[in-house]
Amino acid sequence: MLANLHNADIPRPVLDVLRRLRELGFAVFLVGGCVRDMVRGVPPKDFDVTTSAHPHEVQAAFKKVIPTGIQHGTVTVLSSGTHVEVTTFRSEGDYHDGRRPSSVKFESDITEDLSRRDFTINAMAYDPLSKELVDPFGGQADLQAHIIRCVRDPHERFSEDGLRPMRAVRFAAVLGFTLELATRAAIPPTLPVFRKVALERVREEFVKLLLSPRAESGLVLLSETGLLDVFLPELARAEPEAARLARAAAHAAPAEVELRMAALLADLISGPQARELGIRLKFPNKAADTVGLLVEHAALENRLADSDPALRRLLARVGLGQLEPLLAVAHARIQVRAPERLPDFSRLQERLRALAAAKPPLSAKELALTGKDIMATLAVGPSPIVGEATRYLLESVLDEPSLNQPEKLKELLRAWQAGKGS
Ligand code: ATP
Ligand code: MG
Repeated sequence: MLANLHNADIPRPVLDVLRRLRELGFAVFLVGGCVRDMVRGVPPKDFDVTTSAHPHEVQAAFKKVIPTGIQHGTVTVLSSGTHVEVTTFRSEGDYHDGRRPSSVKFESDITEDLSRRDFTINAMAYDPLSKELVDPFGGQADLQAHIIRCVRDPHERFSEDGLRPMRAVRFAAVLGFTLELATRAAIPPTLPVFRKVALERVREEFVKLLLSPRAESGLVLLSETGLLDVFLPELARAEPEAARLARAAAHAAPAEVELRMAALLADLISGPQARELGIRLKFPNKAADTVGLLVEHAALENRLADSDPALRRLLARVGLGQLEPLLAVAHARIQVRAPERLPDFSRLQERLRALAAAKPPLSAKELALTGKDIMATLAVGPSPIVGEATRYLLESVLDEPSLNQPEKLKELLRAWQAGKGS
């Protein structure tokens, strides 16, 4: 594992930052997720630098810096066009309410900084210049043994920051690791602290878990530890078999957040409820809308016998752009709930794709007559009857798209008007 670390590819601009601070006499290391990933032999997403230099000293050491979170000790250095986050060694003061530390204290010793971090595998620092690994809590051994273990006392650490238990489960799912016994046992008694965490932070961790290749076992662990009940009671309180199918459907859907959320919720709650749930978990409005829409229409197995006009109406409600996402969600659900219906579903899928490819008129603005044309044909001014006529024409072309030509629509309108008069 150390061989992985020593052979890891560290970008030039990051090394330049380390060298510069070292030249100035400061202690400086790579730290956190990137060290964990390098030890595992996985390319890190980003490289975090930690140093004994205070933020103003970091600012003075480089030409281009952005004071990203200077009160917390973080400065972003622009090194050859690359953003490198440099954070001063720190410990954290008292926590308020299990949310954020109320103060930070700068430290001169790397071990102090590592001891405030959440898990042993995230509490290692590496100096690529001297090839020294600082690992005071046994992170390397836990990585090797596939264990998520709190740095120091789990009960205390989970009481300080209620998000940590959620992160523990997220890392266990993403990495395929097990929670160390005491770490796991500390979750239920600290749930009251977890309840106070902003749902936006919970959702960020939840999404990482949901999109991981082990989403299904991650969801089980969330449920077993009691975390799920706090932010997703709709799933936590479902019947065991319904919950199992929901998890399996989410896992079977492509790893995109709206698709997995919709597959998870489709057989537990309604479309509008799913949208509300998305808003509650602070998803962007657009994502919540999409999840709601996908949940609402996900039961495509009920539409195997639908006529073309009925399917066109479905396309009109869903929107052509959401057809493929809807098919993906429906496929995932049917695959786990009723695999024997997959061949029928696949025929429906081809019909829907063919209907969509024909680009039929699906909305009033795609009609071959404008509002003005309609008023002229009916010889009326702006009035409610224009809306009524428009809806009538739209229904007619949804039934039969070939009617969408000016002359044919005018003919339809005249007949409709005559019918109304009688
Ligand atoms: P990822 O690869 O998912 O980004 P990461 O380990 O980089 O994983 P981040 O959330 O980016 O996770 O955090 C960076 C580092 O900061 C962690 O490795 C950990 O050392 C520390 N850390 C983050 N959140 C907490 C927390 N709530 N409590 C204690 N330490 C934390
Ligand atoms: Mg990170």
